[in-house]
Formats: sequence, structure tokens, C-alpha cells
Amino acid sequence: MASITLDNLAHSYLPDPRSESDFALKELNHEWVDGEAYALLGASGCGKSTLLNIISGLLIPSQGRVLFDGKDVTTAPTADRNIAQVFQFPVVYDTMTVYENLAFPLKNRRMEPAEIQRRVQKIAAMIGMEAQLSHKARGLTADAKQKISLGRGMVREDVNALLFDEPLTVIDPHMKWELRTQLKKLHQDFGHTMIYVTHDQTEALTFADKVVVMHDGRVVQIGTPQELFERPAHTFVGYFIGSPGMNLFDAEIEGNTARVCDAIVPLDGFYTAAGKMQIGVRPEFVRLSTGDEGIPARIRRIEDVGRHKILRLDVAGREINALAAEGENISADSNRITFAPGRINVYADDWRISPQEGTA
Ligand code: ADP
Ligand code: MG
Repeated sequence: MASITLDNLAHSYLPDPRSESDFALKELNHEWVDGEAYALLGASGCGKSTLLNIISGLLIPSQGRVLFDGKDVTTAPTADRNIAQVFQFPVVYDTMTVYENLAFPLKNRRMEPAEIQRRVQKIAAMIGMEAQLSHKARGLTADAKQKISLGRGMVREDVNALLFDEPLTVIDPHMKWELRTQLKKLHQDFGHTMIYVTHDQTEALTFADKVVVMHDGRVVQIGTPQELFERPAHTFVGYFIGSPGMNLFDAEIEGNTARVCDAIVPLDGFYTAAGKMQIGVRPEFVRLSTGDEGIPARIRRIEDVGRHKILRLDVAGREINALAAEGENISADSNRITFAPGRINVYADDWRISPQEGTA
């Protein structure tokens, strides 16, 4: 296992990149700590696979270095990096049996036959394919083939890192949950450094200790699920994580107040306005009120989603979401919203800013 350092890394697929927008991966410095399980989360096209392929050596970055335990591997071929990578679509040897496919990475390393047998049996149990070990891979469903790919990725215990690039895309929804649980268990048992790429926040938040959120070629936040929920560093994180995502309001910030739609919203500390100012409040912390304090709002629609209700509100012509507990009474007279204390984040040009020292 290894720690993986990204040093001034950036990548453009163009031969002669001129501006930042030419880079699929904007400049990045980061250390993936040895033995941690990370999720790399972001919308399609934001650069997740580009970053993963640079780590695995399928792609040489146009700028910067990749270090494994301090050793420069930037231009080293994949085979020399001692990693396992699982892709979105199955990569299996059709003419081999399931057993032979799973044993392949171990045979390659000249492992003892008894040890190979033991590992293959264990992995077959994890992916639920013990009964098909003697079947040829040809003729199996895409779903089964992808499980073999996953198994092959997990079969070696001595790898520097395990990289998964949206590995459950072709797997049916029920099995997804099961396989994710197995991957988590594998991490607990062996403590490999794992990077799991996904565009699905539920997958990311349930799999990883730390989630790396990417947006438009940039890493916008690295944090625990709780940090991403409570203090989204960028408006994209607020909106992308949570269901529904964080509400954003254009605001005029003055000291410890925000003016939103002619209402005064008290803030927890003093802020200095710089650029386009917004406040962000998650639906969990929006309260309806009937008083004259707060921001004028109108209930448009109430959706019952089981555990709670989603209130779709109209605030100055824009849709704002609030959550209410299942049994909560919602007064038809509600005409304003207020926010739970300490739950407002302030943004300048989409990046979260902190209150001035000593004022929070
Ligand atoms: P993700 O995995 O997050 O969906 P990718 O890393 O595949 O994103 O792609 C990031 C950006 O780089 C996208 O705009 C994509 O079109 C572009 N891109 C990816 N691969 C190539 C390539 N081989 N050549 C040119 N552009 C590419
Ligand atoms: Mg991808």
C-alpha cells in the first residue's frame, strides 16, 4: 500500500493549451493518505476518469508529478505501479472460466496454487459467483462479467492502491448495494488505499471516509460527508450534495447581516462583501413562519416522500426547498421563512467565506 501525492498536477488533452479552460484537469495538489477510502464525486465530464487514469499510468499528465510513497512514477507504465483498476464496463477473458479470470492476476505474480485457490474462493464468495466458477465467461450477462472484473480488481492483497471508475454502472440496483458493502468490508479487512469514482452522491457518501468533490476540472472540496453537508466550500457542493440540495439566495452582506428580498437575515459573524454575494441554507434548516420576521415566501406544493415532506416554496419567483418532519403541521397561513441559527453559509463568487476573526 502507498500514499499517493499529486504535485502541481494538471492535464490538457490539447497539444498546445493556452487558457485554463483548455485543461480537463486544473492544477491540483493533493495527498491520498495511505490506507484511506476515498470517493471521487462529480458530474459526468468533470475530469474524474482523467485524474484516475493519471494515477494508474494510463495517461501521462501534461504538467506536474505523481509520487507513490515519495517515489516519482509520473511516466512509469501501469504495470510498474502495482495497482488494480476496475473500469465502468467489464474487461474479462471470454475464453477463460470465471475461476481462471479471477486467478489471472495471481498466476501472473507466480503465487502458490494453494494460495490462489484460497483467494479465488474468497473473492467468488464476495461477488456471489461461487456456483459459476467453472463456467466460461463467454455467454455470461454484462452484470456477471462486471462482477468478475470487480473480483479481479480485488483479488490481490499486495497492491499499492485499488482504483474503481464507476464500477457498478451496469450492475442491477439491488446487487449494487451488496457489492458496495463488500468493497467496504474489503477495505476494513486489508486497509488498501482506495479511490472510488462515482457521479452518485449516495454511493460516495456511504462508501468513503473522505469525499473528493470535482466540478469542471477542479477539486472544489475534500471532506467527510458531514463537512460537505455542513460547510460546503463551493456552491456546487451545496447544490450537488443533499436532496434536495442547498438553497442559494442573492444577498447584500453588511457586517453581521444579510439583506435578502428586502428582509434582514442575522448572521453569526461579521463578513466582508467581495464579488457576487450569496447565502446558502440547506432545506433541513429552513423554517416556515407566520410572523413578520423573515423572507416572504409562498407554499407552492408539498411532496410527501416518506420519512419527511419536501415543501416547494416560491421566494421572489424562485423555487426554494424546505424539509418538514412527516407528522409536522404546516400552517396554511405560513408566509415567511427563517433559518436555523448557525446554519447559514456565506459565499463570495461561489466560494464559501469565513467570518472575520473573533466575530463568529
Ligand atoms: P468524467 O470521468 O468525470 O466523466 P473525463 O475525465 O472522462 O470526465 O473527461 C473530462 C473532460 O475531458 C471532458 O470534457 C471530456 O470530454 C474530455 N476528454 C476525456 N477524454 C478525452 C480524450 N481522450 N481526448 C480529448 N478529450 C477528452
Ligand atoms: Mg469517467
